[in-house]
Amino acid sequence: MALLEVNNLGKHYNGETKVLKNVNFEVGSGEFVSIIGPSGAGKSTLLRCINRMVEISEGSVFIDGQSVGGMKKKSLRSLRTNIGMIFQHYNLVPRLTVIENVLHGRFGYKTNLQGIFGRFTEKEKEKAFELLDKLGIADHAYKRCDQLSGGQQQRVGICRALIQDPKIILCDEPIASLDPNSSKIIMDYLKKITNELGITCLVNLHQVEVAKAYADRIIGLKSGEIVFDGPSKLLYQEK
Ligand code: ADP
Ligand code: ADP
Repeated sequence: MALLEVNNLGKHYNGETKVLKNVNFEVGSGEFVSIIGPSGAGKSTLLRCINRMVEISEGSVFIDGQSVGGMKKKSLRSLRTNIGMIFQHYNLVPRLTVIENVLHGRFGYKTNLQGIFGRFTEKEKEKAFELLDKLGIADHAYKRCDQLSGGQQQRVGICRALIQDPKIILCDEPIASLDPNSSKIIMDYLKKITNELGITCLVNLHQVEVAKAYADRIIGLKSGEIVFDGPSKLLYQEK
């Protein structure tokens, strides 16, 4: 059984034209897959269906054998602890410190954030610091996130995703707002996570060259349909 199964997935917003059509693929444990395609192809919507940030209109998504589509609140919460999310605009809470943002990942989102630091055990804090250290930003632990550079904020985002020991990480254009140097650092980390921790990584990218350089496998989306699915080295002109 594959870790992620997407079967005949279709998605429309508000009954309008479908932005995903009959999407089928499976991803195994520890795979590093890049989803590429032009703006508007449906990459972001695809990730949003997988963690049920949006409702699935047709077909099904299974993670670890569990159907995501019909899940109620409680199962959704436990589903999301298995899924780390990384966003183009980092989605950190700007007025909180780096360490608080990382610990926040353990609560899931939409939690009351007042006094968050005190609510964690020493062990949890230790783990958060270890992650910050691995990502090279432990020195910034007590800074507010909005005082960090984009590349540093994205590293906080990676720590926040990792602290819940996810099985899979979904990255929505993680380097689209970063300069080439920071982009390389972030992509290297994502690759390392997959290789060393065996976490499955699904990364939306619009830069084909980056996808080819990092991903083992590429899924090409165009107007909501898969137009390529195979080893990165077999991809040439698809966009
Ligand atoms: P990509 O990530 O590849 O740029 P998206 O998944 O963001 O593509 O968008 C695919 C299509 O769905 C686009 O036409 C976009 O305008 C539309 N879309 C995305 N989000 C919404 C939404 N919340 N409501 C209505 N349409 C949306
Ligand atoms: P919106 O603000 O568009 O209504 P939501 O209410 O669904 O979006 O989500 C609130 C915020 O939390 C958004 O910025 C969203 O991207 C973010 N978010 C959603 N799911 C997760 C997750 N699993 N981990 C971290 N942040 C998340």
